[in-house]
Amino acid sequence: METSVEAELEAWLNQTGVQLEPRFPLQLERVYEAETSRKKIADRRATVIIGIITCLPLTPLLWLSVPDSHWVARWIWCVGSAPVGLLSWLLLETALPLFWQEVQSIGASILIALAFSVVMVAGGKDLLPEYLGGFVLLVLMNAIASNLRLRLAALFAGVVTTVFCVSLQMIPSSPFALKIGLSGLMVAISVCSVFGAWRVETEQRRTFALILRGRRKQAALSRRNSELDELTLRDALTGAANRRAYESWKKEIWSAAEQRHSPVGLIIVDIDNFKLYNDTFGHAGGDICIRRVAHCIIDQLRGTTDMVARIGGEEFAALLPGADTDSVGAVAERVRQAVERLELPHASGAAHPCVTVSCGGASLVAGPERLAEQLFADADGALYSAKRGGRNRACLATRQGDGADAGGGLSLPASSRAA
Ligand code: GH3
Ligand code: MG
Ligand code: MG
Repeated sequence: METSVEAELEAWLNQTGVQLEPRFPLQLERVYEAETSRKKIADRRATVIIGIITCLPLTPLLWLSVPDSHWVARWIWCVGSAPVGLLSWLLLETALPLFWQEVQSIGASILIALAFSVVMVAGGKDLLPEYLGGFVLLVLMNAIASNLRLRLAALFAGVVTTVFCVSLQMIPSSPFALKIGLSGLMVAISVCSVFGAWRVETEQRRTFALILRGRRKQAALSRRNSELDELTLRDALTGAANRRAYESWKKEIWSAAEQRHSPVGLIIVDIDNFKLYNDTFGHAGGDICIRRVAHCIIDQLRGTTDMVARIGGEEFAALLPGADTDSVGAVAERVRQAVERLELPHASGAAHPCVTVSCGGASLVAGPERLAEQLFADADGALYSAKRGGRNRACLATRQGDGADAGGGLSLPASSRAA
């Protein structure tokens, strides 16, 4: 569906000849209607209001211009046309589709033209310029000012011109030459108005098509950009974030924590004896194992702001904004246990019969004198400690004062092994 709108758009913009009735192909036409109908109805409403405001002061002039005309005609004009105009204006406020709004609206204008013709015939001993002016005004308002679709604008101009010409013939006292002259003038004005409406509609549609094409290209470009961003930040094997994403998130998380003087937790997770695993099960088997472990770690990170990245071959880092040492210890232990529960058979000769991970965790209150690199070094030290302690364990780095004292030394190991 979307592609065919695109194709229709290109085909329409590339067409050369002149379109007698400016129209889009089916699906594009639907988009055009949907996007422009509100504005078109608003244009119509504005035109009706402007018409009422500008013509009302002229109404009393009718009494002066045609004092002898039949009273019914005057009432038709003053009491009949005004409610019709008002009713039509009120209908424009309803949820009728644009096409029917336009139809009811020009229907009302035709009724007003008929009422005007009754006045003209009834009071038309002398042909007055107001008669021609009134019909011309109706054509201009409907065909040009109110942005009607061309087909209806042309139909309206044709009907009103016919009503005017027929009404003229019904005034026997007027000279024939004058009738012909006025009819010709009215026809010329209607033709020019319809031509104007054609130009406006053609230009409007072209502008709409160009803007739509620009918008769609822009949207496709941003979609592609975010897909590319996504690709450059995602690890292809596991689907987790990659090292590049880790580095950029680390900066963001660290500077946000620095402003709030809040802690940032970090856990480095490393699969135990993985070289041996690869040697036994092959590289492809190793890849499957890395993927399973990655998903298992991600599942254990429940905080919405936590993130997991694959930062090396079988090494992962979990960043936990706001986590103090205790929370880091709890999450690290949870991760270790979850991987153990996977019960993926390991190679013989490994420290444990199933695949296990060692975790090194640390937490640091961010501050200008406390760098994110320190946090990484602390967690890395804790990981080293876990490896040295026999693997399949989670160790924590604790600073004296638990991060509150930047000058404090690192105390390792602080094992929280639970298994
Ligand atoms: P330790 O318990 O001390 O961590 O021992 P280890 O064998 O896991 O550590 P080492 O760093 O020596 O080995 C990591 C191995 O991970 C080496 C490498 O072949 C493997 N590796 C790195 N990247 C990938 C990968 O993308 N796929 C697979 N299958 N293996 C990988
Ligand atoms: Mg390893
Ligand atoms: Mg490693």
